[in-house]
Amino acid sequence: MRCPSCQHLDDRVVDSRLVRAGSSVRRRRECAACGRRFTTYERLEEEPLTVRKQSGVVEPFERSKLKRSIQVACAKRPVADSIDELVDAIEEELASSDGREANTARIGELVMERLSALDQVAYVRFASVYRNFQETTEFEQEVHELQRRRRYETPGQADLFRSSGNRADGPSGEE
Ligand SMILES: [Zn+2]
Repeated sequence: MRCPSCQHLDDRVVDSRLVRAGSSVRRRRECAACGRRFTTYERLEEEPLTVRKQSGVVEPFERSKLKRSIQVACAKRPVADSIDELVDAIEEELASSDGREANTARIGELVMERLSALDQVAYVRFASVYRNFQETTEFEQEVHELQRRRRYETPGQADLFRSSGNRADGPSGEE
C-alpha cells in the first residue's frame, strides 16, 4: 500500500481488527520508510445486485432509478423524509433474498407493499404506473378494492394484487 506521505510502497501492519460486525477488517499500517501510520479497510467483494426485466434483459440494480420512481409517486405527499429509508429497506430485502438477481415484478411488489403502509395516495399512484393501466375502469376497480380492503383489514396487504398478473415492466424497468 502506497504511503500517503512519502509514496513508499513498503509497510507493516501494526494492528488488525474486525469491524462492521465482521464484514470488514481494519488495518493500521506503518510506512517502512517514514513511519507514517495510516488505515486501510478490507471487505468482501459482493456480486452486484441485478434486475431481470420482463423482456429477459438483465441489468445492474440501480438504486437511483428505484428511488426516482418512488419519488414520483410521493410527489407533494408528506413522506419525503421516509423515501430513503424505504429504498434502503427494499434494497436490503432484495440483497438478502436468494441469489443476487431480482426481477421487476418482485421489486414492484415490495414497493407497493411498503408504500401501502406509508401513504395510500402514493401507493395508488405507484400501483397505477406500475400496472400501466390501459383502462380507467381497471384503475377504478383497483381503488374500490383498496378502499374495501382498508375498511376490513389492517396492514399486511402484500398479496393485494399478486394474483392479477404483471402487465407492466417494473419500477426500474421503464424503457
Ligand atoms: Zn512513508
